[in-house]
This record gives sequence, C-alpha cells and structure tokens, in this order.
Amino acid sequence: MNRVYEEVKKRNPHEPEFHQAVKEIFLSLVPVFAKNPKYMKQAILERIVEPERMITFRVPWVDDQGQIHVNRGYRVQFNSTLGPYKGGLRFHPSVNASIIKFLGFEQILKNSLTGLPIGGGKGGSDFDPKGKSDNEIMRFTQSFMTELSRHIGPNVDVPAGDIGVGAREIGYMFGQYKKLRGYEAGVLTGKGLGYGGSLVRTEATGYGTVYFVEEMLKEQGLSFEGSTVVVSGSGNVSIYAIEKAQQLGAKVVACSDSNGYIYDENGLDLETIKRIKEVERKRIKEYVLEHPQAEYVEGCSGIWSIPCDIALPCATQNEIDSESAQTLISNGVKAIGEGANMPSTLEAIDLFLESKVLFGPAKAVNAGGVAVSALEMSQNSMRLSWTFEEVDSKLQDIMASIYRNSMDAAEEYGHPGNLVYGANIAGFLKVADAMIAHGVI
Ligand code: NDP
Repeated sequence: MNRVYEEVKKRNPHEPEFHQAVKEIFLSLVPVFAKNPKYMKQAILERIVEPERMITFRVPWVDDQGQIHVNRGYRVQFNSTLGPYKGGLRFHPSVNASIIKFLGFEQILKNSLTGLPIGGGKGGSDFDPKGKSDNEIMRFTQSFMTELSRHIGPNVDVPAGDIGVGAREIGYMFGQYKKLRGYEAGVLTGKGLGYGGSLVRTEATGYGTVYFVEEMLKEQGLSFEGSTVVVSGSGNVSIYAIEKAQQLGAKVVACSDSNGYIYDENGLDLETIKRIKEVERKRIKEYVLEHPQAEYVEGCSGIWSIPCDIALPCATQNEIDSESAQTLISNGVKAIGEGANMPSTLEAIDLFLESKVLFGPAKAVNAGGVAVSALEMSQNSMRLSWTFEEVDSKLQDIMASIYRNSMDAAEEYGHPGNLVYGANIAGFLKVADAMIAHGVI
C-alpha cells in the first residue's frame, strides 16, 4: 500500500486533496488486504487510483459588459465498474485537478455503498458564480455544456449538482444538451420537477445526512430530539440538514457561508435562511438584520467553538482541522456527521475516533444525494414519477442500509464501531470484486 501511495504522489504531484483522499481510504483497507491477497495479485489498488479518463477543456464566455473570459472545465470519469459514471459538477474558483480527483475517487466508493448501479465521476470548473447575473450564468453553463455534451449520456456519464451548481445551472445545462444532442431525460440529475426531476432530490443530501446520523445516535440510545446542533454552510446540503434536524426536534443554533457564521441560541429561523440564500442569493450576514437577537461573526472556523451535541459540517473540504476538532470535543460534542465531502482533516478524524465521538464519514453520510439522483435516473427510464413519500421512504431505507453495511464491515474486519473503516471497506469490496469479474480492462 505504501508503494502504491508513493506512486500516486509521484504521478500526481501538486494534488494534496487527492493524496489525502487516497491515504484515508488506503489506511482503512489494510485489514482487507491482509485477509484477501487476491486484491493485491489483481493490482486493484494500482487500477482503482488511476482514472479511466480525465477530460479538461476550455470554457470561453462573454460577460454582460462584452468582455471575454476563459475558465477551465473538468470531468473525471473515474470508474465505471458498477455503472455509468455518476457525480456532481462543482463551480468554484478553488476547483482544480486535485479537487476534482479527490471528489471523483471518493465518489466510486460512495456510489457503491448506495447499492445502486452507478460508477464514480466528478467534474466542474474554476468559474466563480458569485455576483454573476443570470445571463452570465447562462452563457457560461452553455459554453461548459457545449464541450461536456460530447462526453456524457444517460448510459455513459450522468452529472448532477455540487457547490455552485443548483437547479438554475442544471436547467441551463439541460437545455443546452437538448439543443446539441436531442432530448434525453436521463443525461443530468437534479433537474426541475417540471422536466424530469425527482421529488426529494433537492432535500436528499441534507435529509440523508440527518437520517444517517439518527441511525448512529439510535444505536447509543440518543436522538436529535432536544439536541443542540451546529451546521456549517448555508447551501443546499446545509439548508435541508437544518430542516430535517428541526423536524426531528433538534435546536439548530448556527450556520455559515464562506464569509462568516450566524449564531442564535434560541434556534435559527429556517424560512429566513431559505429566502436569503435560495431566493435572494445574498450573504448569510443579512440574517441578523431581521433577527437582531442573533449574532454574526466574520470568519468560518469560529463556528466550531459553539458548544453543541451534534456537529454537521456541510460546507467544504478540510473545514474542521485538529484545533477545531479539539474544541468540539472539549465542549462535549457527541456526534459528527459529514454532510460535505472530506470536511475533516485526517488529524481531526483521528481525534474524534480517539475521543469516542460518534463519527459518520462523508462517503456514507452524504450518499443520500447521489442515491436519489440514481432514483431520478430510474424514474426517467420508466417515464414515471414517484411521490415525495415513496422517494423519501426509499432514501431512509438506503441510509439505514448504508449504516448497517458499514457497521457490519467494520466489525468483520476488526474495527467494530469505526464507520471510517466500515464505509471504505464495504464500498471497496463491491467495486473490487466486480473489477476482478470484469478482467483486466
Ligand atoms: P452549495 O454551493 O449549495 O453550498 C455550499 C455552502 O458552503 C455555501 O454556504 C458556501 O458559502 C459554503 N462554502 C463553500 N466553499 C467554502 C469555503 N471554502 N469555506 C467556507 N464555506 C464555504 O453546495 P452544496 O450544499 O451542494 O455542497 C456542500 C458540500 O456538500 C460540498 O462538499 C459538496 O461536495 C457536498 N455534497 C453535495 C451534494 C449535493 O447533493 N449537493 C451531494 C454530496 C455531497 P458561499 O456561498 O459563501 O460560497
């Protein structure tokens, strides 16, 4: 494993996030390789860390003043062993090959955990949607899709949203794909309900995060009811994690954006947050204008100094470092559920595990989003739509089974209760066995 990890670093220099994701997964696979030499003989690690295909492309577009800009687009088609490549598109200035590859690599095992027939992929651009007009967003996404459309399709690769890509962006991209290639409902997920979207897709990642954490708490005789919760971010995942936590009787006291966080000891008013973030697309600090009892603090990491029972990091990678983890632990946190991808550093995860804090890793906890995306694909193929209750109940079943399978795998491989090991192992075994079945390709 060390040899392969060193090779990964050598072959993919300057990609620290990708190295971090590979390292975390490799560490959990040690007991699997000790027990099953066939995976080493079949060079599964060497094969799984190399994307099947990595596409980068120029995305030129014209702003409202007539000025031409050029961004870079990415799509990593990482692994199609279990089905068409599936994974979101991220539009954020921090996007680069390392970020896209870490997300794509994690996505392989996450998608495997859902039990649905989807492979792993991811994509995006270093385009910054903040402060852009609707027309600028439309021109950018159309240019992005003009190239991406050559590489995707309902049975090949099915992108969805991620940071900076919501219903508006998916709508424009769907329109452009249709113009270029013809109507194919299943080419993107996260679509509007009027043209092939699935009920619960908007809520899925946030709701799924809470369903998973509820399973973790239940096993210890705990629950969301009466708990104090801190959620970072105020985007799609955060908003619906807050909604479900509140529905289950929790008091959510804080959330954030990339500028700062708001804190209200009596509990946040979600309707105001939804309006500010989803409708007006403004900054979270606007909240205190309407709720003067709440406090706004500049800077993001301070949010983890607020005492809470349950912390749900739902913003971005590496937002909880060892210092924030230590503060959460000292303040008596009982459970962490990673709604975002890789929000805790490796050091922070170690601290949580050593302190016996219940820890739900991203690839298990936030798998609800891609699971409902796969249900959207099923509905598109059938040309039928399920009700909200049907999709929500399938989502709950999927989250409970991801939890159970991860716990069982952790137990079987000698790390009972460790969901980092469990999720990585359960996700890996299914992909690795299928890779062996398919031969060396
Ligand atoms: P959104 O764009 O809807 O929201 C992202 C939120 O995180 C915003 O509040 C944003 O603040 C904040 N944020 C982004 N970057 C940073 C940063 N560098 N520092 C601090 N805050 C930041 O994205 P999503 O809610 O869709 O995604 C959030 C996380 O969940 C990501 O890690 C994503 O990969 C993961 N995820 C999303 C899924 C989905 O279905 N959407 C599925 C599975 C995982 P600001 O507005 O200021 O940028």
